[in-house]
Formats: sequence, structure tokens, C-alpha cells
Amino acid sequence: MTDTTTRTHRLPQRRSLVTTLPGPRSTALAQRRAASVAAGVGSSAPVYAADADGGVIVDVDGNSLIDLGSGIAVTGVGASNPAVAAAIAEQAARFTHTCFMVTPYEGYVQVAEELAALTPGDHAKRSVLFNSGAEAVENAIKIARLATGRTAVVAFDHAYHGRTNLTMALTAKNMPYKSNFGPFAPEIYRMPMSYPFRDEAGLTGAEAARRAISRIETQIGADALAAIIIEPIQGEGGFIVPAPGFLAALAEWAKANGVVFIADEVQTGFARTGAWFACEHEGVVPDLITLAKGIAGGMPLAAVTGRAELLDAVHPGGLGGTYGGNPVACAAALASIGQMKELDLIGRAREIENLALPVLRELAAETDVIGDVRGRGAMLAIELVRPGAAEPDPALTKAVAAAALAHGVIVLTCGTFGNVIRLLPPLVIGDDLLLDGLSVIADAIRTLTRINGPAGFTDRPIPRSA
Ligand SMILES: *Cc1c(COP(=O)(O)O)cnc(C)c1O
Repeated sequence: MTDTTTRTHRLPQRRSLVTTLPGPRSTALAQRRAASVAAGVGSSAPVYAADADGGVIVDVDGNSLIDLGSGIAVTGVGASNPAVAAAIAEQAARFTHTCFMVTPYEGYVQVAEELAALTPGDHAKRSVLFNSGAEAVENAIKIARLATGRTAVVAFDHAYHGRTNLTMALTAKNMPYKSNFGPFAPEIYRMPMSYPFRDEAGLTGAEAARRAISRIETQIGADALAAIIIEPIQGEGGFIVPAPGFLAALAEWAKANGVVFIADEVQTGFARTGAWFACEHEGVVPDLITLAKGIAGGMPLAAVTGRAELLDAVHPGGLGGTYGGNPVACAAALASIGQMKELDLIGRAREIENLALPVLRELAAETDVIGDVRGRGAMLAIELVRPGAAEPDPALTKAVAAAALAHGVIVLTCGTFGNVIRLLPPLVIGDDLLLDGLSVIADAIRTLTRINGPAGFTDRPIPRSA
């Protein structure tokens, strides 16, 4: 696969630095940005993109960086996938917008057909399309409340569901997502998550589900509860993979109590975890599934897909939006899904897991600052802790990401405690580039924790292009 993907890429698939980072052009852009862009918008890497392809992002100074973030799990098929780019250009040349609520078009219907076919369960399904993950989550809650006639919603510790008012309320973490942005939407109840690394040792998925369910029953009451919303693998909260059986037990209880079970697969969806959707790993069939990020090769598109009787319960005109299911975004989604099938990116996500996990485990065995290595497919993480303890080390985490960037690797952090390095490479990244990226992260950890003495990075010089 490596050679095939590498050969078909437009840009050389290599890490090469021609300036220190950020380079002069990125620095100049940062100055213009400070005078024009709101300070509240952060950027994890201070380098400005000029081009991107396969596993690399080339910045405005000509540095070729390894992309281990995919723009937060979006560009699984690559950030300039030729099939996606062609579909976008072709649709844009015909029409960019009519508004599906005014003059509908086939692309929207085709995307809904694809989503019905790809999502778990063989029940009748309907879909509605939006622009962002948060908008999909908001609408899933609207649908669940209307269909059940109930108002309460359960979300979990460490959850991330977006930044709009309702989704801020569903999101667990205060800084930076919620702090001083309230008041928040009512009738949201937070329950304990299954977090194997931090739960008491040996707590099973079924026991963790029982812990949450007994609180739901005592604090809310099943007959007041419209929906349970959960990320099958939590994203921003720390790539937390719940103990086996946790999701299934929650889904089963929801079913028995007329509660809508919503899987928020905005980050985990579309081949990322080595399945079309992460709840498949647990044999769970959600009533509603929220989708965005990986759906359309970088174009803004989101969806709620689920049981026909839930979506069709909503009165005509009750769902929609001016841009939702934009025709260019739909064309990109269809091409993107086509690429996932054609390039077997589900298989590729599993290969990435098989390649990367042993490297991360080997590193973890070498040091006592890696508390946990976890994830599925191309959604992998290491949780950094104080030596030998479970106490989170966000400072080290930040330093590792900064050191990796300085050596040409874009890597994202996450976690309630800010102590998780997360890997979300484009699924089309080649083996060599991925391994080079991992070796940089390993060197960063070794150097910062002085496993190889204070020099660091000496065994692996930064490749520089001429
Ligand atoms: C990113 C994310 C969202 C929000 O999506 P936006 O497109 O940023 O609004 C919601 N849920 C999960 C699980 C996410 O990872």
C-alpha cells in the first residue's frame, strides 16, 4: 500500500525543513492575523499551509511537514484527493447552491442513500444534512425530544459535542470550550464514563454502564429521558475507548426504556477506526448517528442518520438550514466515500493501527511517563503522566507536540487533563512517512524525559531539502 499511495501523490511524501518553524512567511502572516483575526480562535501549529497532499502539509515557507492530525480527523482521503477535487470542480461548474429547501437536487438524495447503506442496522433510515458536527448534534437532540415527547438528555464525563449553545452544554470540559459562555441549555445531565485507565482496576463495561444507569434512574427517571448521546470513542476528551460492553449495555437499557440512543460519530466516523463507524466494533446499532468531519474530504458537511420513524416524526419544515447539504459538499462526500471504498481505507486504517501500536507500546515500555496507549485504527493515543503515576502531565504533552512540530511533525493533543497525544493521520499516508512521524514523537519524549541523555534527536537528524 505504501508504494502505491506514495506513487500516486502529487507532492513528495517526505519531511523536510528549509527554515526553523515558524518560518518568515508564516511569521508575517501571524502578524497580519493578530491585527485582523479574533484572538479567541487558536491554532495548534503556527505554520501557514500552502499545499497539502497525502501525508504532508507544505507551509508557505516551503517546509514539508508530516500531517498526523488530518485537520482533526477530516481529511482521511487526503487534503487534495484528486477524485474529490474533480467532483467539487465539476459540481461547482454546474451550480454551487440552490438551497435544498427551495430547489432540491440529486446529490443530497444520493448522500442520504449512501448513509442509509453504510451506517449500522438494516432498519429503514432517513437522513438530514447540515454544515457542522455541532449542528448535527443539535438536530439529533431536537429530533429525539420531539419523537419521544421527553426533554432530558444524558451526556458523559469527558464528552465533546461542539461549541454552540446546546452542544456546549453537552460538552464536559470548561476551558476552553465553555468558560464564561453561559448560561447553558437546561435538561442536560452528565454521567460517569467508562475510562479504563482511570476507573478502579477491573471495572467491566457492564459495571460501568450499571453505574451510569443507576444514576440516570435515580436522578432523572427513564420516563423523562429523551436521549443518551455518546461518542463511541471519545475524541477531544482524550481518545477514551470505553471498556467492552459499556456501549452495548447503555444501548440495550435505552431500547428497553424508550430512550433514543445517539452515537456521536463526528470524529470516529468514515473508516477512521478501521470500520465505517466505531460503534460497529461493539456491535451497537444506534437509533441516531451524528456525522461530520471525515464525511466529505474537507468540505463542510454533516448529517443525522437514523430510524425512519424518529426522523419522519418531525413536521415538514422542522429541520433544515440554508446551506445544509450544499451540492458541492455532497459531491465531495460521494467522491470521498467512493475513495474510501476504492482504496480500502477501512483496511488501511487497520494497517495503520498494526504499524503504529507496536511502536507506541515499545516506547511505553521504555519510559514511565506513558500511562496508557490506546485507540483503534488510525485513531490512536498515548496518555502522558508523571513518572510511574497516573497524575496527568499536560506540560510534557504540550512540550512533546511543540518538539514534534519543531522537527516537522504536526501532532495534536487532547484530553480533559490536556495530557493526551492523539494520532489522526490521513488514511492515505504511506508507511515510511508514518513511521518517520512516530520516530519524531518518540525522540521528543525521549529527549524531554532524558531517556537518552539531554542531547536528544541526535540519532535522527532532521532531513533538510536542498
Ligand atoms: C468535532 C466534534 C463535534 C463538533 O463538530 P464541528 O464540526 O466542529 O461543529 C461534535 N462531536 C464530536 C464527537 C466531535 O469530535
